[in-house]
Amino acid sequence: MYLDSELILEKLAITPTSVRLLVLRLFLDYNSAFSLSRVEEHLFYADKSTIFRTLQLFESKGLLHSIVTSNGVRNYALCTDECLDDNHAHFHGHLKCDHCNQLFCVPIISLPLFKETDGFKIGSFQIIANGVCKECNQFA
Ligand SMILES: [Zn+2]
Ligand SMILES: [Zn+2]
Ligand SMILES: [Zn+2]
Repeated sequence: MYLDSELILEKLAITPTSVRLLVLRLFLDYNSAFSLSRVEEHLFYADKSTIFRTLQLFESKGLLHSIVTSNGVRNYALCTDECLDDNHAHFHGHLKCDHCNQLFCVPIISLPLFKETDGFKIGSFQIIANGVCKECNQFA
């Protein structure tokens, strides 16, 4: 399905500037997560601080969510319909390729069950599985 990036931004009351549209287009075109430096590589002609602010804005508006991997790199990925609501919880897992460092969002079959949450209300959690992605596996 073709998603109009301008429409997506308008729906979230985000002014569609050229950099914002480019960043969103990037996430729509590639179906994977991007670290700040990877976004900068793709949009090398754009101002770095503008890119950074765009990612922050998108995250605060619930368009992107971010995941920090074990190497301390923050990755951003598009939010799906399931989390585009008020509570904006993220109940899905992530697969990280140790070869190319790509990160993929994947649905989970069931939530992990905690033994004792003592009234704690869980809003989100992180599951990251490390390994080798399909593409890198072909050349391994
Ligand atoms: Zn989300
Ligand atoms: Zn890979
Ligand atoms: Zn994700």
